[in-house]
Amino acid sequence: MTANLLDFDLEGLAAYCETLGEKRFRATQLFRWIHQKGATDFDQMTDLARSLREKLKVGAHLQGLKILTQHESKDGTIKWLFDVGNGDAVEAVFIPEDDRGTLCISSQAGCAVGCRFCSTGHQGFSRNLTTGEIVGQLWFAEHFLRRHLKSAQRVISNVVMMGMGEPLQNYAALLPALKVMLDDHGYGLSRRRVTVSTSGMVRMMDRLARDCPVALAVSLHAPNDELRDHLVPLNRKHGLADLLDACNRYLEHAPRDFITFEYCMLDGVNDQPEHARQLAQLVQRHAGSGVSCKFNLIPFNPFPASGLVRSPQHRVQAFAKILIDAGIVTTVRKTRGDDIDAACGQLAGDVKDRTRVGVRIAQQRTVMLKQVPADARAAKETGTP
Ligand code: SAH
Ligand code: SF4
Repeated sequence: MTANLLDFDLEGLAAYCETLGEKRFRATQLFRWIHQKGATDFDQMTDLARSLREKLKVGAHLQGLKILTQHESKDGTIKWLFDVGNGDAVEAVFIPEDDRGTLCISSQAGCAVGCRFCSTGHQGFSRNLTTGEIVGQLWFAEHFLRRHLKSAQRVISNVVMMGMGEPLQNYAALLPALKVMLDDHGYGLSRRRVTVSTSGMVRMMDRLARDCPVALAVSLHAPNDELRDHLVPLNRKHGLADLLDACNRYLEHAPRDFITFEYCMLDGVNDQPEHARQLAQLVQRHAGSGVSCKFNLIPFNPFPASGLVRSPQHRVQAFAKILIDAGIVTTVRKTRGDDIDAACGQLAGDVKDRTRVGVRIAQQRTVMLKQVPADARAAKETGTP
């Protein structure tokens, strides 16, 4: 099998070039062609010696992801669904804002953590993505968007690992992928602009702090262990006290001086005023001096199998006010791309279900690279013509 060069960070590529009898600095040139210029073909790399290009054609390839669908929202949000084989699909979402362009990417097909409110969790775990599949989402999106938006400059300024999967359960593939994002010869993103989101893998948070301390978001969702055990099953192993200790350890290395806590607002479950008060106490009194943090309240994106409902807006606002009055910076996540279901795991979930009932993924290609009106899609997803 030939090597997929998207699987390598710069160190890995240098080691690979050495196996070809090439000087390590050739790897830098090659890396820039791949990630900065978006080259897909070795013949495009005109400043590489012909002999090296010939060796690469024999021993290496650049394997991007197969696109199943692309949907563009009225607000500019674009969502891609990628086929990763065996009936599995993962998604990435681009969210343009005035001062930045954020790409939300996936780390696994499915997820083993099984949070109650997450459609990816309900699908179960299929497999870890490779480094090339994680990086491939950024590689494709950045260079597609430059063409699509006719931009000579970088379009994606921020990456958040908030698509499908628990990134810290796929650490071996995640780490080189993060290095590609940060590398000045790669995407050159600063550590503050790359965010890993975790449901609370305490030991792996310590490793990330040592190996590659990027910005960290922790999905909290509950102010006490009883409720969190129920919503985020991982909590039964590492409770809130362990998790908040790990957050404080992480902060010693983090590029930002706060952790972002994510909190998905579920009607009648975790959204009452006493939950907000308990939450403020939890993060402000932990270990005496508390945890330096911000809160991001996420309106729940409902899906039928969850049996859960989104909190009404007035309750989200009241909840935010209690946290703000306690002195905690709190934002409510804007819902973007609502018209294209650009929410965690939703579309990929549909493909998986369709596959299970014997509808082949290949049929999805009929909607490839086209914007499909919401009502037409609804009909497609239920299998009606
Ligand atoms: N596994 C990681 C990252 C992927 S999930 C994690 O859990 O942090 C990214 C974010 O989406 C998490 O904060 C998660 O709680 C949230 N999320 C999952 N399902 C959701 C839903 N149905 N509605 C709103 N947010 C959801
Ligand atoms: Fe996995 Fe995150 Fe979904 Fe929980 S919220 S099931 S950790 S992807």
